[in-house]
Order: sequence, then C-alpha cells, then structure tokens
Amino acid sequence: ESQLNPNYSFDNFLEGDSNRLARSAGLAVANKPGGTSFNPLLVFGGVGLGKTHLAHAIGVEIKDKYPEKTVLYISAEKFTQQYIESVKKNTRNDFIHFYQLIDVLIIDDVQFFSGKSGTQDVFFHIFNHLHQNGKQVILTSDKAPVDMQDIEQRLLSRFKWGLSAELQSPDFETRISILKNRLYRDGVEMPEEIIECVARNIKSNVRELEGAIISLIAQSSFNKKEVTIELANQIVEKFVKNTKREVSIDYIQKVISDYFQMDVETLQSKTRKRHIVQARQLAMFFAKKYTKASLASIGSQIGKRDHATVLHACKTVDNLAETDKQFRKYIEDLSKKFAQ
Ligand code: ADP
Ligand code: MG
Repeated sequence: ESQLNPNYSFDNFLEGDSNRLARSAGLAVANKPGGTSFNPLLVFGGVGLGKTHLAHAIGVEIKDKYPEKTVLYISAEKFTQQYIESVKKNTRNDFIHFYQLIDVLIIDDVQFFSGKSGTQDVFFHIFNHLHQNGKQVILTSDKAPVDMQDIEQRLLSRFKWGLSAELQSPDFETRISILKNRLYRDGVEMPEEIIECVARNIKSNVRELEGAIISLIAQSSFNKKEVTIELANQIVEKFVKNTKREVSIDYIQKVISDYFQMDVETLQSKTRKRHIVQARQLAMFFAKKYTKASLASIGSQIGKRDHATVLHACKTVDNLAETDKQFRKYIEDLSKKFAQ
C-alpha cells in the first residue's frame, strides 16, 4: 500500500515560473531516487499551491520507473497517529523498523510535527537510517525550514541538508494554462474571456482557481446555463469572498458607524452620549466575537481604550441583549453583516 494517488501526475502539474525549481527538482529526484543531492527534497509553500500534488507526482513517477522500489506517501498527521498508536501497543520498534525498510519516504505537511517531540525523535532516527542507506526522503511543509517553529534544531538541520524548493503563487499565464488543462481534461469548452476573467481574479490559490472553474463547468453542463461574463463574475466573487473576507476591527467599526449614521471618529471619541457609547461597546463586542485580537489590542484600536474597558463593554452588551428589545435588534442586524 503506497497510498499514492495516480491522478496527481507530473503531466498535469503544469509548469510556470512559480513552480519551476520545485517541479524540476522533483523530476530529478524521481529519475534517480536517493541518487541526487536533493535528499531530502523539501517542498514548501502556502495553502493550495500544489505541495500534495507534487509529492504524489514524484512518488507515482518513481513507482513507474522503479516498480521494485517501495514508495510510501503519508501525511505527517497520520504518521504521528501511527506512532502514538505504536507507543500505546508497545510496538515502537516495529514502527521504526517498518519505516526504515522503505526506499522512498514521502511525508506531507511536516509542520504538523511542531511541538511533538516524541514524533520528531522517531522521525529523526528513521531519517538518519534512510539517508545513510541512500534512500530518498521527500517532505512538504507550509513554511521554509528557517521559519518553522517548535521543531528540534537537529531535525531542522537535516531538513537543510538537501534542497528546499518553494512553490509560489502562479502567475497569470500559469493560471490560464491550469484552467485550460482542467477544461480540456473534462472535455468542456469555454470562451477565452471567461477563462481570463477567472484567472485575473483568483490569484493566490490553485485549489480556488480549480473550484471556480469546476463551478462554471457544473453550471454549464448540468444547469445548462449559458456561461456569461456575469455568471463568471458571480462565481469568482463567491470564491474570493468566502476565503478572503476576514472581518477586521476597522471593518467592524466602519459597519457599525454606518449603521448608526455616525463617522468612525465619533464612534471612537471620548463622549459619554448614550447612543455613541453603545455603538462603541457594540464595536468592541463584535471585535471580540469575530476577530482573534486580544482585549488590549481591541481597546487600543477602538479609541485607545484599555482591556478592562473592552471587557466591561462586552458584559454590558450581553446584559442589554437580555433586557432591551431595541438593543437586541441592533445585535441581530449587525450579526448578519459580520457572520455572512
Ligand atoms: P497544497 O498541498 O499545497 O495545499 P494541493 O497539492 O492540494 O495544494 O493542490 C491544490 C489543487 O491545485 C490540487 O487539485 C492540485 O492538483 C492543483 N494544482 C496545484 N498546482 C498545480 C499545477 N501547477 N498544475 C495543475 N494543478 C495544480
Ligand atoms: Mg496539501
């Protein structure tokens, strides 16, 4: 059981400036596993940029060229679970032994090892054994080794032995070819201007790019809708909105000031006028609810108040929500604007 996904191949991992180094290094490793200086090969980059795809593609290609080699793909999370299981069952040595016999080990998302010292320790031993025996290790991570946190120094230094190659956000041309490739594989035709509309608007994540084109394909083939620029814009907007629109404290203050027909400076001012105080308290309440900011940071951004003021505001809003019908209506209206 290699756990490899044959749909993730080099053929459909389209090349562009954003991935050329990683893709070429991957191919080099696939041609000569354990026989290049790219050992380990560490591929890093943000969400949805193709780390998992490329990791599988390398494994699939090796299996194709060297059927006798044992290739194993596993996520760092699953590896960790297996390890914990083995400790419980007193089979830690079997676990290590199993991994030491593999020719090509591919571990996806090694940032998951952060802070897990037991797992890092076994992986260290497995890695050393494989490396000494000329076996290939391929890793992916959402960060470069220098930026990894809570990973032991001795492991980090091993990660740096080989090559770290970054997957960056694809440029416009690459986004176009990825979209066209997807359409081609699905046997669907789409006007050039639609493809460009999607490629122009979705920039930083290939998974979203694919999601948008899949929605469009579905609309045209199942709903028999004509794919117009308007429809493309709607779908693109949904994808961009769903992922990008993070509620910020600025945004909260803006929405609440608009709602109460005042400006942001008024909302932040030192006045004790009741309706302004309430607007400000609502801003603090929603900032606590919809952002990850600390009370102190919320306070300082909403008119330079301290954390005790924010805490008091949140309690006041909770109380008023129970006792004051009009106030409850404010909260309901505003919640709709933030919760989307
Ligand atoms: P990650 O593991 O970095 O989050 P994935 O490997 O899951 O990203 O990729 C997300 C989606 O984008 C997958 O469906 C993958 O096939 C596709 N993809 C990413 N990069 C490319 C590329 N260069 N060419 C074609 N498809 C790609
Ligand atoms: Mg992945």
